[in-house]
Amino acid sequence: MNNILKSVRAKRKVLIVEDERINREILGNILMKEYDVVFAENGRRAIELLRDDADSFSLILLDLMMPVMSGDEVLRICKSDDKLSHIPVIVMTQEEDAEVPSIRAGADDFIKKPYNMPEVILARCERIIELYEKKELIDSAETDPLTGLYTRDFFFEYIRRLKKYNDVRMDAIVMDIEHFHLINEIYGRNEGDRILKKIASLITTELGNGYGIACRCSADTFYIYYSQTSDEIMFVERILNGMASTSFESAKIRLRIGINKNIDGNDPPEQWFDHAKLACDGLRGDYTRQLAYYDSTAHDRQLYHERLIRDIDSSIANGDFIVFYQPKYAVDGDRPVLRSAEALVRWKHPELGMISPGDFIPLFESNGLVQKLDHFVWEEAAAQIAKWKKKFGAAIPVSVNVSRIDIFDPELEDRLIGLLNKNGLSTNELLLEITESAYSDSAVRLIEVVNNLRKKGFRIEMDDFGSGYSSLNMLTTIPIDVLKMDMKFVRNMLRDQKSLKMCELVMDISRFLDVPVVAEGVEEKAQLDVLKSMGCQIIQGYFFSKPLPAEQFEELIQKEAELFAKNF
Ligand code: C2E
Ligand code: MG
Ligand code: MG
Repeated sequence: MNNILKSVRAKRKVLIVEDERINREILGNILMKEYDVVFAENGRRAIELLRDDADSFSLILLDLMMPVMSGDEVLRICKSDDKLSHIPVIVMTQEEDAEVPSIRAGADDFIKKPYNMPEVILARCERIIELYEKKELIDSAETDPLTGLYTRDFFFEYIRRLKKYNDVRMDAIVMDIEHFHLINEIYGRNEGDRILKKIASLITTELGNGYGIACRCSADTFYIYYSQTSDEIMFVERILNGMASTSFESAKIRLRIGINKNIDGNDPPEQWFDHAKLACDGLRGDYTRQLAYYDSTAHDRQLYHERLIRDIDSSIANGDFIVFYQPKYAVDGDRPVLRSAEALVRWKHPELGMISPGDFIPLFESNGLVQKLDHFVWEEAAAQIAKWKKKFGAAIPVSVNVSRIDIFDPELEDRLIGLLNKNGLSTNELLLEITESAYSDSAVRLIEVVNNLRKKGFRIEMDDFGSGYSSLNMLTTIPIDVLKMDMKFVRNMLRDQKSLKMCELVMDISRFLDVPVVAEGVEEKAQLDVLKSMGCQIIQGYFFSKPLPAEQFEELIQKEAELFAKNF
């Protein structure tokens, strides 16, 4: 590195500040061979020369005792002036007592008067210049030239060091500018730079009030490591106000800010900021908020969901989704009779274990992936019905769940009819469950689709009835064949009058519509008895059986067939 430094500027310029002419000449002679030497006979002149061309000087040799302005004063001015403080100062002194106060004032080294060891003086000058130039080079990699904030690498390096010596609790804050690339494109880079500098200067001012460090991590992203003892809300507000009160060409600058308050000292600092960045990125396009906190449970949930989304295809291909069957019993005769079943999907994830539909169905409904899964379940169920039909002579009807998104699929009807044809089934054998909320969300389209399906002979069960806020008016025009009472009324019917009343209401509506009711979620004999007394004819619930794998469900069919044979 020394050679590189030397080659940058062949001869360094050195300022000798000394009031005694003889001393100036001796020193000048010593240094002249190696350096461009400039002289000042007092402090004031020295400051003039330095301010004139601060960047050209590599070193100041400073006498302390001088008229007009003392060396101490020169030192003080140099070290408190941003433009001069980078020039190293060697103090020339006769008294050793002067050394300590000079060091405190910022002197870098000493040369003893009288000047009778020229080699030592040259060596000291050379070493100090070298040290400073190296430091400057390091400083330039430490800070971002545009904003003066740290660069990303140095920022994290400093955090690692701070972490070692400091047990103050800190926050990780990430700040970025919405649509910054557009600002650059529309208003030009200079305007973009102005905005970045303004943000950096507001951050720097704030860090002066609290405790922390900051970097510009990438074009428009700032990372701030900020003490928790300082108020982060005030911090953010002052920056937002500072931006709001500055006029920019691009009138509206919108900052997004993500804060991670629960940083774990065992995790790498980069991760603290990744998490704050996640919170920050979550605000993209959200014009109601500018600040979000990182929440680890929300993040875990998000990761879990991402995992499920990633794995759905391979799991369908590998047979990790399994269709279970839950029986529905007719209870209007002397004994319960197995009438039909509902196909319910289960996910036997190779690494996460058994996952309940409650965890993945709503997720896949929200992103449309449920359609793939439904198609798989319908295929499986149809093939299974055909198998049982062949084995037992008569089919046991199975209902499958049809999601909202399926309704909007123009190929729905063809697909279902294709399935029936492929497996030799009739529309009485593959039943369709559609949740009530789908009806209230998109009534017109849904009624049209359902009408068409019914014209083809399909039978439609309205699932979760009572939860979807269908209007009574709509109910009278709605095309359905069965009502499935929402499970929560059954769950609470023995404890809570309101739920009991709801069950009665559903029964009344079913009579009005002239369709049977399936009560789901029946777990106890007492529930069954009350429902029966209300006129409910079909029961699905743990009281009879949980959803079962096909082989176990087959045992129920077998038993039913034997009972049937015995009774006739
Ligand atoms: P759902 O269609 O209303 O299905 C009934 C749910 O009630 C099933 O939950 C069933 O196991 C549960 N259940 C039945 N009897 C009882 C009981 O006595 N007590 C209790 N506590 N629960 C009972 P499951 O299998 O967890 O499914 C939950 C929901 O996930 C289903 O509600 C349905 O909306 C959805 N789902 C399941 N499989 C599929 C599918 O293949 N496609 C679609 N689109 N949705 C499905
Ligand atoms: Mg259902
Ligand atoms: Mg249901």
